[in-house]
Amino acid sequence: MDQIKTGKFIASCRKEVGMTQAALAEKLGITDRAISKWETGKSLPDSGIMLELCELLKINVNELLSGERIMAESYDKRVEENLIAMRREIEEKNRQLLAAEIWIGAPATIAGLIMCVVAAYAEMPVWCRVVLISIAIAMILIVAFIAVGIEQKAGYYECQNCHDRHVPTYWQTNLAPHMGRTRYMKCPKCGEYGWQKKVLTK
Ligand SMILES: [Zn+2]
Repeated sequence: MDQIKTGKFIASCRKEVGMTQAALAEKLGITDRAISKWETGKSLPDSGIMLELCELLKINVNELLSGERIMAESYDKRVEENLIAMRREIEEKNRQLLAAEIWIGAPATIAGLIMCVVAAYAEMPVWCRVVLISIAIAMILIVAFIAVGIEQKAGYYECQNCHDRHVPTYWQTNLAPHMGRTRYMKCPKCGEYGWQKKVLTK
């Protein structure tokens, strides 16, 4: 997907239907800054707003994502290409999120453990030990909660029984026993408890 091409296409379609950035923004209930960001290729419209935008610009979503008008005969192929490209982008985003879980979690856990060792063995008054250990535990807990939040939002969990892919709630994820990112949870579709694997796309 070429954001700049899509941006230029949005701008030209908007002019074709005779709307200013401000007028289009008002119809969509967003800021004209957002429109200018799309048109300069800095961002893509959210999926939630795409249909409405396409309707106003008199194009279809596939043309929006391709950044050009599409003839009917090549339409099917382009739909598939765009779906694949979108899927790849979602996968990549989720992969980066899961990497962030480790980059945030590992250093904080190691730092916390070092603080506990120092508190246990170094010469210091008792109150210092207590403060040091409390800070270490608080830090590890906070980071663990943030890490679970990242893991829950990135991608889906797949039920090994019915292969339904879903996103559990934050607390369902946090409270589930886990081995790495495979978590023991109830499947919302078939209702079976089982070890659910992390997958990147639906
Ligand atoms: Zn299931």
